[in-house]
Amino acid sequence: AVLDGPVRNHDAFRAEALRLCGERATRERTLDVFDPYTGLRVGTVPLASVDDVGAAFEYACAYRPTLTRFERAQILERAAALLRERLEAASDLITLESGLSKEDSRYEIGRVADVFKFAAIEALRDDAQSFSCDLTPHGKQRRVFTQREPLPGVIVAITPFNHPMNQVAHKIAPAIATNNRVVLKPSEKVPLSALWLADLLYEAGLPAPMLQVLTGDPREIADALIAHPLVTLVTFTGGVAIGKYIASRAGYRRTVLELGGNDPLIVLDDADVERAAQLAVQGSYRNSGQRCTAVKRMLVDRRIADAFAECVVDMTRAWTYGDPFDAANRMGTVIDEQAACTFEARVNEAIAGGARLLAGHRRDGALYAPTVLDRVTPSMTLVREETFGPVSPIMTFDSIDEAIALSNGTPFGLSSGICTNRQDLIARFVNELHVGTVNVWEVPGYRIELTPFGGIKDSGLGYKEGVQEAMKSFTNLKTFSLPWG
Ligand code: NAD
Repeated sequence: AVLDGPVRNHDAFRAEALRLCGERATRERTLDVFDPYTGLRVGTVPLASVDDVGAAFEYACAYRPTLTRFERAQILERAAALLRERLEAASDLITLESGLSKEDSRYEIGRVADVFKFAAIEALRDDAQSFSCDLTPHGKQRRVFTQREPLPGVIVAITPFNHPMNQVAHKIAPAIATNNRVVLKPSEKVPLSALWLADLLYEAGLPAPMLQVLTGDPREIADALIAHPLVTLVTFTGGVAIGKYIASRAGYRRTVLELGGNDPLIVLDDADVERAAQLAVQGSYRNSGQRCTAVKRMLVDRRIADAFAECVVDMTRAWTYGDPFDAANRMGTVIDEQAACTFEARVNEAIAGGARLLAGHRRDGALYAPTVLDRVTPSMTLVREETFGPVSPIMTFDSIDEAIALSNGTPFGLSSGICTNRQDLIARFVNELHVGTVNVWEVPGYRIELTPFGGIKDSGLGYKEGVQEAMKSFTNLKTFSLPWG
């Protein structure tokens, strides 16, 4: 029945290849890629072997990037321009393999273009410092200078499914801006978008040894990717379990780990309930609720909780969902049927434990309706663990202390949103929440692509992403000193 819907505006079947050693390499063994909405197989990608991993590192290391700042900026600017020209094709591909709605995938392309734009600007900016040395009685007539250098080995980038192109862009663009070499292993659920983006960058002038893309089964190639002697840094975005596994295997090499979240939207009793509910539903349903910084818990002052819930329910009922290619739908599917079943089971468990279902909770394959529950308690799996889908669990508090304790009461520490106008309380939340970001009157996911981004506790080690911070972690800072005067 789903095939009778609107015309599905995308290409025919894609039998893809690795981007390895400057060539497109096919392999006999392949992995299927599915359209989560129709369940149809839409492409295949090769299963790279451990030997392929080794070959990619050798090829990358045989090349020493020498692009000037101007040349790096030009590649990134051209990539941004090409992407804007091909917005529809890029967004179609994301929607095809991820089930994200066209609204969400178009938005993602705008973000990717921003990443390239910021990386181009940052490539032109030299953040070198200089220090006088005659600052103390035993000083000398010298100056100390700093300069940033690319990493001596390869950067391995491993990305999740939830933003098929933007996650990749956040790893690759800062690497290009700093003259590094990357081997990318995209999510096996959405590899087609990553390959498409790599081709766009080659077309924009990126030398092949600076970016290779290996698709495959992580059980087979992950260890070779993480622990190969030619790897200097592993940058990973994904779930906590795999992030901690990478940390345990990486040994004496740098890791940047951007892991899961369980972000609250905290609504105080002075808040405009409708404005807060607006943020709540956007934070909960955009990208099908599959953002590390999606609103995963709504913590609301008990005195306004019923009014807030009513608004959230109205807005949830108006949030259209279904065929992701139908422009009338704001939300498409989640990544696959298995994920949708997990949300369904967790919501059932919460209802059995005393939560009240207010809207949604219907599943059809990988489609899961935007769902609202209240009377949710912190011990329910739905909010104790990260629920990576379009669910709005409403919990209540009676004091600011309790709101802060609830917010801090999970192993995660990624981001947060606060709805209040009280300056004294804003300062308390900024100081006392154990998170990487506090957004006042915004969703936890609010950021620009340039600014520092990342979590603490189980959400990350505190090393940030965002174009500027990623460029710092992708470089070694060298000092040199000269006689002066
Ligand atoms: P995932 O952890 O299942 O997979 C991420 C990547 O790791 C994939 O490319 C996968 O192939 C690879 N992988 C699997 N096993 C591996 C292993 N043993 N060693 C190395 N790599 C391995 O995550 P997902 O389901 O694709 O994405 C959802 C998760 O990502 C959520 O937990 C979400 O919160 C998190 N996320 C975090 C951020 C952030 O910036 N903090 C952003 C987006 C998503």
